[in-house]
Amino acid sequence: MSDPAPGWVTGNLSLDIDGRSLSLEMTIPEGPVSPRTMLPAFRFLTEALVHVGVDVAQDDGLQITCQAGCGACCRQAVPISTIEAWELRDLVERMPEPKRTEVKARFAKARETATAAGLWDVLLEPEHLDNKELEAKVVAYFGLGIACPFLENESCSIHPERPISCREYLVSSPKERCADLDAKGIMRITLPAKASLPVGRLVPIPGRRASWIPLIAALDWADSHAENAPHRPGPALLREVVEGVLRQEVREPRKQDGPEPRG
Ligand code: SF4
Repeated sequence: MSDPAPGWVTGNLSLDIDGRSLSLEMTIPEGPVSPRTMLPAFRFLTEALVHVGVDVAQDDGLQITCQAGCGACCRQAVPISTIEAWELRDLVERMPEPKRTEVKARFAKARETATAAGLWDVLLEPEHLDNKELEAKVVAYFGLGIACPFLENESCSIHPERPISCREYLVSSPKERCADLDAKGIMRITLPAKASLPVGRLVPIPGRRASWIPLIAALDWADSHAENAPHRPGPALLREVVEGVLRQEVREPRKQDGPEPRG
């Protein structure tokens, strides 16, 4: 393998996850960078954790039923981190016209629909809800049928850059069941740990306990919140996320740190 570019460092991350040994070679910035700069590394870590989850599920005789052209889950309230909100905002800004205008119009329409249903503010500040109330709001949101603004022909139009929580969402139940969030018939693949949780905590939302933003609010939120998180060395940022992953892994039983709006 060639040497990393100046200012970057290559290292091997060895993790024991769910009885499986993970060995991940990663090249990351060595010096201080914005937490967002580390997103490729966080996505890489996510894919490795998802791989373990799928492996374990297949050993248990389960099959992943998610397939291209099925976008049922892309109508859920998809949680994203602050750094992903800024990333998605900039991704949309880089889109050529007329695509950019079309995607922005879909975001605006999603906001209009969620607001009319009284769900926009609720999902932006879910701290006031207990888990049961939040679950009811999430089901109500799904009932609105708001497609993710990036969903085109029932496929993700930003697949390589999709949020971490999208990567973590896989099911083994028949795809028809994904159309009914409330029926409890959806069987999600259990992951050994979710990188989305520690990534969400890297840059907290000012004045909020929750560490996620609904995807449909990404552009509005990013435009009204300057990206001024302190720069930190890449290895320190990666270490914080890996430690967050390992803390989940040692818990018994595994569970979320906070309410999860998706599913
Ligand atoms: S970003 Fe892509 S995968 Fe995620 S909800 Fe939107 S369309 Fe679906």
